[in-house]
Amino acid sequence: MHGLEKSKGNQHYFKVEKLVFATNNLHKLQEVRAILDGKVNIRSLSEIGCFDEIPETADTLEGNALMKAKYVYDRFQLDCFADDTGLEIEALGGEPGVFSARYAGLEQDSYKNRMKVLRLMKQQTNRKARFRTVIALILQGEEYFFEGKISGVIALEPRGEGGFGYDSIFVPDGYEKTFAELSAEQKNQISHRAIAVKKFADFILSKEH
Ligand code: IMP
Repeated sequence: MHGLEKSKGNQHYFKVEKLVFATNNLHKLQEVRAILDGKVNIRSLSEIGCFDEIPETADTLEGNALMKAKYVYDRFQLDCFADDTGLEIEALGGEPGVFSARYAGLEQDSYKNRMKVLRLMKQQTNRKARFRTVIALILQGEEYFFEGKISGVIALEPRGEGGFGYDSIFVPDGYEKTFAELSAEQKNQISHRAIAVKKFADFILSKEH
């Protein structure tokens, strides 16, 4: 039993008490825990003793997020959620998208990934792009999805020292700075991941009646 059933009138409410986040990324864990404000016990993969390399071989963000959540649910019978993020560039037909982590090769080198994007975008005047995060949740055997997006443009060259991944080449709409030039607090207020996490948290906390 991973939650507490309550009844109110004829309706049954299910209070979520514990969830596994299929990640070991501390930054992501902190972000989700902060938004859920201690109301739900969030455990990482290592905290449940899962040290497997979880496959991410689907061809969509939704597919990959669900694959990770399902892997944990099937092996550990624990309610679980997972996320997947991609940078989708209009002029590149939505690439790197689901291939964002390994765009320039299997070694997952962020510097090489950024350089590849800038090289492919060199002659492009349409620089529109967006970050998209999908969270897949498996709760009591039911699947739910939450999406967060932020639109912007690809910068002509990397700028800024903060952030990670593609942050230094992405300028969100309404800003002149790249994600890597904004403070972590500023980025976390507007980011794709923050939007998806907020929708996810609202759903989880709505079960708190
Ligand atoms: P993941 O699904 O969070 O592992 O992200 C896939 C890839 O997208 C990562 O390897 C990063 O390079 C990139 N990425 C994810 N989130 C961000 C972000 O917030 N800023 C910049 N790059 C990101």
